[in-house]
Amino acid sequence: MGQTHERPVQSHAASDHDGGMISRDVAASLLRETGLRMTAQRNAVLELLEGNRSHPTADAIITKVQERLGYVSAATIYNTLESLEELGLIRRIDGLEAKAHFDPDTSYHHHAICSSCKRVFDVDLGETRVPNFTVDNIVIHGLCDECKAAKYSTRP
Ligand SMILES: [Zn+2]
Ligand SMILES: [Zn+2]
Repeated sequence: MGQTHERPVQSHAASDHDGGMISRDVAASLLRETGLRMTAQRNAVLELLEGNRSHPTADAIITKVQERLGYVSAATIYNTLESLEELGLIRRIDGLEAKAHFDPDTSYHHHAICSSCKRVFDVDLGETRVPNFTVDNIVIHGLCDECKAAKYSTRP
């Protein structure tokens, strides 16, 4: 069975990628297909993001990868994030805060950020249609249940 997996090199998040949480196996084979190597930096970033639902910022990813790999420049890690995003392996979410967050789940979904604890949550609103506009990401600002409970709880 001569099955070929031809994927466009410039596959963009959410469109070409199957969507869903990335696994390093899938990432490794996609990198191979596009002639890219699984570098230590790429591996460390993917290892950190695989199964990670916290939507970390670039700064948080850079700090963790530097802890693991010893000194690697922030610019190198940022470039790694950009190349993984271009491949559709991770998704960049703007508009949550002044800085971008990254998501290893490239499926179609939206995000809510808690104005108190700054945690980012996945939100499924189904397919969102706006006339004459393609919706990539809706950002909801509000208060998560935990922070709401903490805010309104009466302390002894
Ligand atoms: Zn909160
Ligand atoms: Zn998400």
